[in-house]
Amino acid sequence: MNDQLRNSFTFKARKLEKLANALNLFYDNEFNFLCGFRNDFNLYIDNPTGLLKPAIIMSIKKNDNTINLDDINDFIKKERLIKKCIYKNHSLRLILNKRLMCIITMDKTLKQLDHFLNNFTILLQENGYQDCCQNCGAEKTSFRLINEGKFILCDNCYDVAGLLVDNNGISFDKKDGNFNLGIIGAICGAAVGSFFIIIFDQGGFMMSFAGLLMSFCTLKSYKLLATYNSKKGLITCLILMVLVSYHIHRLSWSITLADYYSTTAFIFFVNFIRLMFEGYVNIAYYLLELATLLIFIFIGSSPTIRDVFYNNSGRYTFNIKKE
Ligand SMILES: [Zn+2]
Repeated sequence: MNDQLRNSFTFKARKLEKLANALNLFYDNEFNFLCGFRNDFNLYIDNPTGLLKPAIIMSIKKNDNTINLDDINDFIKKERLIKKCIYKNHSLRLILNKRLMCIITMDKTLKQLDHFLNNFTILLQENGYQDCCQNCGAEKTSFRLINEGKFILCDNCYDVAGLLVDNNGISFDKKDGNFNLGIIGAICGAAVGSFFIIIFDQGGFMMSFAGLLMSFCTLKSYKLLATYNSKKGLITCLILMVLVSYHIHRLSWSITLADYYSTTAFIFFVNFIRLMFEGYVNIAYYLLELATLLIFIFIGSSPTIRDVFYNNSGRYTFNIKKE
């Protein structure tokens, strides 16, 4: 199994290396990104093999500070390879419509991507955009890897970031630092969510919708106390929600069924699995409802999942005070 995994990994790595060569980019196997230059613009492709679609990331500015993105959006609209573009504090993120592994297998799309990179950077040049440091806006930048975070920075900002990391031990992961507080928040949020599950089920509403409220309460309360979402926090919240929802759903069924079979909810809850297999519970309906509840929790959590795994929000937010 391990060998198989390793083989598939090197297989992917080899493919990505080929892709990088075709695009005149460099591929880093360890940290999983492609980076390079096009027409004086630094760019990198983050998460080339991740579950989510990859993004081309650049850092740009206009000298007269009149960025309104209309020109870029007009260009992107005609481009089938690009799904959307997000611009925030110099950082331009172009989300691809296809996974890189699909692009590799088709010569046509590979050429398309190559053309796109060329045409797009030429458009930027023609419209007065410039490559710049994503932190301070200075020109002359390099692609930098700091604590697994990927940045386009000027030498100054890179040095300051290095000092921060070395001397104070500030790592960008430290933004997950309030994990413990966040979990307390998440538990409170999950308790509120549980309340909704019971109310919805006992009140005869479609209980699965309570899954949306469950994810909303849990994740919002986590973020409220933790300040930043992190992968660790998100995964813990998801596990927490699944465990709590499973038990609360079981409790709600126990309340209903205990009444029907003239026993107590506690006894029914404790012996639930046994009673289910003995035919006291409509297994198909029970599992279907549980599954839809979990699906709704997942739907409710998906914006945060995207944010954490895709936009790396919080984790790699980079802000060095200008002197
Ligand atoms: Zn800078």
